Amino acid sequence: MTDALPGIDALGDLSGSHVLVRADLNVPLEDGVITDDGRIRASVPTLKRLLDSGARLVITAHLGRPEGQPDPKYSLAPVAVRLGELLGRDVVLVGHDDSPGDAEIVLLENVRFHPGETAKDEGARDEFAKRLAGRADYYVDDAFGAVHRKHASVYDVARLLPSAAGDLVLREVEVLRRLTEEPPRPYVVVLGGSKVSDKLAVIENLLPGVDQLLVGGGMCFTFLAAQGYDVGRSLLEPDQIQACRNFLATGKVTLPVDVVVASAVSADGPTDVVSADAIPADQMGLDIGPRSVALFIERLAGAKTVFWNGPMGVFELAPFAAGTLGVASAIADLPDAFTVVGGGDSAAAIRVLGLDESRFGHISTGGGASLEYLEGKQLPGLSALAGG
Ligand code: ADP
Ligand code: MG
Repeated sequence: MTDALPGIDALGDLSGSHVLVRADLNVPLEDGVITDDGRIRASVPTLKRLLDSGARLVITAHLGRPEGQPDPKYSLAPVAVRLGELLGRDVVLVGHDDSPGDAEIVLLENVRFHPGETAKDEGARDEFAKRLAGRADYYVDDAFGAVHRKHASVYDVARLLPSAAGDLVLREVEVLRRLTEEPPRPYVVVLGGSKVSDKLAVIENLLPGVDQLLVGGGMCFTFLAAQGYDVGRSLLEPDQIQACRNFLATGKVTLPVDVVVASAVSADGPTDVVSADAIPADQMGLDIGPRSVALFIERLAGAKTVFWNGPMGVFELAPFAAGTLGVASAIADLPDAFTVVGGGDSAAAIRVLGLDESRFGHISTGGGASLEYLEGKQLPGLSALAGG
């Protein structure tokens, strides 16, 4: 869908130049402490490569959704510290109106503190993009997690400077392209997470090309309802039932046969495992059951390509984590499959549940971006780099 993207090599000799790098440093924080630095670590190789080529770095990134004004809660200060540790060099955090002096590595404070970053108005975005572009000679976009956003630091700035995709963006796009261009079969897609409506477009786009679609998570209950089952107080999107019926009619969809139910989303209330066609009216399904895990493992056997997005249950709470752990381990154990994990919560689940990340072929840093790519959408950040 996207024409060949220019890589860093295409920029030529960078020594002595200033390179504006859009990075994805949007990590989860709890009381100002980074709880998962996966995205910072994923940004390091491109930054190192640019430093090795003699460039000075002006890094721009966002954190959370501060709504266009400074908010100390969303400061990149802890990120600057962690990034400095990982690079083994000083990273100087500066505000958008401050001068960086002659620092070798500058991290601009949260780009979403400025309303121009996310403005719908093209003029406002362009004005802010010009300020960013004025700080550098070249632009490198390595923020795969943001390429689906038409934002100043992602889209508009790429039109103002000689631009290239960073290595992380190139690798993400390469992997996703493999999933859409005749991947080795059998090709099994595993979907979960909270809402069918979030994933409808990706199911529609992927289903014709896959051999099996395994559905768990909150979205399985709309499918179970489409099959005529009562789902009690489980997550249900009645307006998606017809769409689920159409997906079921392809004969490629496997649903859970048992579910873990509880009367509340709580880590310490009583739970039960029931058959998927016998969910009590006053209970909600919060994980797939052990027979479903076994069935999904059977369907995964022999797969050559697997794309997994969305946890099988409320994995954040121990009583509802077994489904996600079972299915994720089975995917990790596949002997010779190309396995891709997309989705912020799915990637977090892998780390939280203690699975070895290296047992997966690729863990995408961009949930929304990877899904939109697989939906077949044009991603503004990629189009801008490709000159479109
Ligand atoms: P990803 O970020 O990987 O794309 P989603 O954002 O779609 O995944 O969904 C993740 C969320 O889905 C998790 O917070 C998880 O608790 C929730 N979830 C999973 N199963 C259920 C369920 N049965 N009922 C309610 N929520 C669920
Ligand atoms: Mg999510």
